[in-house]
Amino acid sequence: MKDVFGSFGGAYVPEAQLKALKELEEVFLEYKDDEDFKKELNYYLKDYVGRQTPLYYAENLTRKCGGAKIYLKREDLNHTGAHKINNVLGQILLAKRMGKKHVIAETGAGQHGVATATVAALMGMECTVYMGKEDMKRQALNVFRMEMLGAKVVPALSGTQTLKEAVDEAIAAWVNSSEDTFYVLGSAVGPHPYPTIVKHFQQIISEESRTQILEKEGKLPKAIIACVGGGSNAIGSFAAYIEDRDVSLIGVEAAGKGVDTPYHAATIAKGEPTILHGMKTLCVLDENKEVAPVYSISPGLDYPGVGPEHAYLNEVGRATYESITDDEAVEALMTLCKTEGILPAIESSHALAYAIQYAATCKPSDVIIVTVSGRGDKDVEAVAEYVGVKNK
Ligand SMILES: *Cc1c(COP(=O)(O)O)cnc(C)c1O
Repeated sequence: MKDVFGSFGGAYVPEAQLKALKELEEVFLEYKDDEDFKKELNYYLKDYVGRQTPLYYAENLTRKCGGAKIYLKREDLNHTGAHKINNVLGQILLAKRMGKKHVIAETGAGQHGVATATVAALMGMECTVYMGKEDMKRQALNVFRMEMLGAKVVPALSGTQTLKEAVDEAIAAWVNSSEDTFYVLGSAVGPHPYPTIVKHFQQIISEESRTQILEKEGKLPKAIIACVGGGSNAIGSFAAYIEDRDVSLIGVEAAGKGVDTPYHAATIAKGEPTILHGMKTLCVLDENKEVAPVYSISPGLDYPGVGPEHAYLNEVGRATYESITDDEAVEALMTLCKTEGILPAIESSHALAYAIQYAATCKPSDVIIVTVSGRGDKDVEAVAEYVGVKNK
């Protein structure tokens, strides 16, 4: 299988998996432009998820920063509180067309697991979620939430017992049961065709924002800024602007306690090309060239790899990638709460923190769009603890 995004992407998987991936690609190509499929997807996006999401002019924040006009793309207002449901809905509707009765998913903090359990409940499908045992302890409430929605949560027991191992086990389980089971992958990562499928279902973010900004401002933005874990909200936020060469595309990674410490998840800033989860991409490696543990205060950004299209956009210079520390992200979260009365997810707060710095370097006639990928209700406890620790 050739690499899909320049020298990145591809499908580096055993023979047994290639057959299931090939079948998935065929179904995706058959339905992605099918009128009935699009009608069904749009119905649920509108009446169930609550799209379209607002493009909100953050006037108070803009005044505080003193530079570019800052618009927020409000993915936090989706049902279940983040962008993840856009992709989950698309993939589960594909699973339905394939006649699958059972969906499986991996989850780190539980966000993607909750979104998958939600749509599986809606569609009357059986749902199994693989989650690192360590993450299950840290996110016990999300485990219960998935169970309330009817899902079975299976602990991943190998390695660090976190997201990386959850993906490994979900892939292994899928290979053994792909006849009746569909694997709902949660970010723009994994073997081809997953990164392409996830981008397809997340590009609605930028399709909407492009129309909205032209309506409100009569011109395209100077920059689009989004946080990058695996990269699904970012690629969805960039997609409709990739050909608009004057629009800067800026991804923001988690610098954790600093990119020069071992405690970060800045994959593009610090990564090297390797193969992880069936794709060739940039990855944080240790001195033995093994995948290194990564760290961020935000549970959604601590993935050791990154979507292969981001590695490619970085390589060819079409997008740039910055990093923001825990401290800066928490400060931005507080700033948005105080100025606009909006509590953003700690993941999204990385994008906001960079946007706040960036806006100040722009002219008042410039316009930027920041994707608020999710709401921060889930982070209140962690932020309270963090701020408490800092103040001690
Ligand atoms: C999962 C998650 C992310 C990170 O995932 P991407 O695939 O990089 O978008 C970012 N923000 C929120 C709110 C999330 O739940």
